[in-house]
Amino acid sequence: MTKLVSKWNFPTTVRFGAGRIKELPDALGATGIRKPLFVTDPGLARLPVVARTLKILEDAKVPYGVFSDVKPNPVESNLTAGIAAFRKGKHDGVVAFGGGSALDLGKLIAFQAAQTRPIWDFEDIGDWWTRADGDKIAPIIAVPTTAGTGSEVGRAGVLTNEETHTKKVIFHPKILPAIVIADPELTTGMPPFITAGTGMDALAHCLEAYCAPGYHPMADGIAVEGIRLVFENLPKAYANGKDLTARANMMSAAAMGATAFQKGLGAIHSLSHPIGALYDTHHGMTNAVFMPYVLAFNRDAIEDRIARLTGYLGMKGGFDGFSRAVLKLRKELKVPHTLPGLIKGLDMDKKRKTLIADMAVVDPTAGGNPVKLTRKSALMLLDNAIEGA
Ligand code: NAD
Repeated sequence: MTKLVSKWNFPTTVRFGAGRIKELPDALGATGIRKPLFVTDPGLARLPVVARTLKILEDAKVPYGVFSDVKPNPVESNLTAGIAAFRKGKHDGVVAFGGGSALDLGKLIAFQAAQTRPIWDFEDIGDWWTRADGDKIAPIIAVPTTAGTGSEVGRAGVLTNEETHTKKVIFHPKILPAIVIADPELTTGMPPFITAGTGMDALAHCLEAYCAPGYHPMADGIAVEGIRLVFENLPKAYANGKDLTARANMMSAAAMGATAFQKGLGAIHSLSHPIGALYDTHHGMTNAVFMPYVLAFNRDAIEDRIARLTGYLGMKGGFDGFSRAVLKLRKELKVPHTLPGLIKGLDMDKKRKTLIADMAVVDPTAGGNPVKLTRKSALMLLDNAIEGA
């Protein structure tokens, strides 16, 4: 059996393998961070996994501060408070420890602490990132504890603008963490709902990247293998959270999804972002709900690609076979089939649906969908996901 330990330099240095969290002091030394701000979320902060990690820092006599005021789907007030903690503690770098929410917020604290312009000036639009003073961005070490977003290997952070109720992607090449410690043991405590949602997020990233138009064979190759890893390992990780091999493979799939989606994403994400911003749903679980509806909508444009993919996956039945496999996986993971299954008491009137469709169409991920997403088609997809059609 292949040993699940390796060192990757694409796209950043990933120290991968069970137990490697003990290398955190060494990683801090390698990045020159002397007094890190440890950014995590309040749920994780109460778990032994955080206490054990902080003990590693204490044993190594690393002075640190902890900031855990991070909402799932973090908001600007979390960032403001995190920056205040960073400055007050005179920190010189960030250890971002957690799921996508804590990783993104940690990255954004390191980024924004020394900038003078508002965070929204750095949205992932054109070259807006060049407005930032890149030399002042503090170094970041990322330690994922979920296996889904792949934020640990990404150059972006997602932040919800509470005034406009929109999720915004903030981008700067220098918020790519200098070192990632990807230790699958840290993910074994994830409850099944989060295992399922985050795992489906990794699948959504790989699948949308693979289906996005454009020439990027490297991303395609990574996405295809990521999809295989999800189908083969997510049900195992869901059924037995302590299955370290399944957890390790899911951790890889998550990093692969985020590496692949430099090629583009699509309508699953375009619809999931407004739903997440307006209803505070789990990002990956929301993607999982939309997946079969968007797959069917894109069918004509992606049928050949999906047939090629099924050849690699050893699935029969081409596009239909793949669609059935997605539905089966969702069922196994108890993913709700419809939006009302995800959001209790959901009651959307026409005005609200139109608002969501309009937000989806302008979402930066919409451009990657293989079929043009219009207000009409976004409304249709929304109705399908509401009715389960
Ligand atoms: P999350 O970070 O919001 O965490 C979800 C819950 O899981 C939290 O309550 C947390 O305490 C808990 N949790 C995390 N790790 C755990 C563990 N090991 N054991 C027990 N509980 C644990 O969830 P997520 O899906 O990882 O991240 C979602 C966020 O990431 C969203 O804001 C989304 O928009 C963003 N995102 C970012 C990118 C990116 O490229 N930067 C990509 C996709 C999604």
